[in-house]
Amino acid sequence: MNNPDPQVETLVDLDAIAHNVRILAEHAGDAAVMVVVKADGYNHGAVEVGKAALAAGARELGVTTVEEAVALRAAGITAPILCWLNTSDTDYASAIAADIEIAVSSVRHLEAVAVAARQLDRMAIVTLKVDTGLNRNGVSSIEYPQVLALLRELVDNRTVRFRAIFSHLAHADSPHHPTIDIQRDRFLEFIAEAKDQGLQPELVHLANSAATLTRPDLAFDMVRPGIAVYGLSPIPEISDFGLRPAMTFRARVALVKQVAAGEGVSYGHEWIAPHDTTVALIPAGYADGVPRTLGGRFDVWLGGERRPNIGRVCMDQLVVDLGDNAAGVREGDTAILFGGQAGVPHPQEWADTLGTIHYEIVCSPRGRVVRSYTGDAR
Ligand SMILES: *Cc1c(COP(=O)(O)O)cnc(C)c1O
Repeated sequence: MNNPDPQVETLVDLDAIAHNVRILAEHAGDAAVMVVVKADGYNHGAVEVGKAALAAGARELGVTTVEEAVALRAAGITAPILCWLNTSDTDYASAIAADIEIAVSSVRHLEAVAVAARQLDRMAIVTLKVDTGLNRNGVSSIEYPQVLALLRELVDNRTVRFRAIFSHLAHADSPHHPTIDIQRDRFLEFIAEAKDQGLQPELVHLANSAATLTRPDLAFDMVRPGIAVYGLSPIPEISDFGLRPAMTFRARVALVKQVAAGEGVSYGHEWIAPHDTTVALIPAGYADGVPRTLGGRFDVWLGGERRPNIGRVCMDQLVVDLGDNAAGVREGDTAILFGGQAGVPHPQEWADTLGTIHYEIVCSPRGRVVRSYTGDAR
């Protein structure tokens, strides 16, 4: 028995990750690059992407939770790691023990970090996440003075090391949106206010992928790209910026069969064969991250061509029409659902059809999908 490829898989090209990091570093100029590997590296694998990105010149990694950060440390990554979305009862001790930089957004968060640091008798590395207008995570300007007062006390008694101040933009994908300059000005005010309290950050950062690629004036000391690292343009209507998509979502044909004219295909018979035809059964369905609402509205790359999906996407499978199957598609052949190669459906196409963004598309493959890696950067 040979060892067949998985029925459904994502293949992540780590050379594409390295290439994209280098493009981002060029745009960043003198600023360092923190690569965002939250949500398991946008579903590409945080550890593998993180290692490839650091090898390609990224300086730091960013994630959402303490658990994500600790998992990177456990995998042997020694670079600085920042986590920025925590609750007041998060296990900060495990972050402090692993030298994870903790972003705080409130007095309650900072108090909880201080308690953990004292219990461990070890300095916590703290970064201020400030809300300059996204009004989501981050310290509001109203609470900022109290946060600074507590931080000053904790720095003075050596409970915490104050590392950075950062913020996040609301309209970075519209590079000339007026809120961007407003957020920048507020960011500068937050920084100045900290300095007035004797709190000098080691670095400050603001730019996500879109800002890194279009607003070099906002690079500050470090940029913080996510989606562009994975090869997807944050502003596809402007440019692909030379980025290379890293993820290919593919499955192996489970069955090739004849369907007679007039027969209906898949649940509800939403597609009726207009003539005798050949179809291929693809073992990927909504449980694997192919949205059911895509049914009948997308193509799969198979046998060197695009093949239309016919009928409903089911939990485990979908069907594509091969017509007379002149290309000779056979069971076991690989069908690409999306990827970055020429001709192959791009995640942006799914996003456009579904009325969402490609970020959500690459986060979709799940369940039975097996992830593997390609590229010299492995
Ligand atoms: C997700 C995230 C990023 C990366 O954003 P992209 O648009 O993927 O580049 C940067 N900073 C913060 C705070 C984030 O949550």
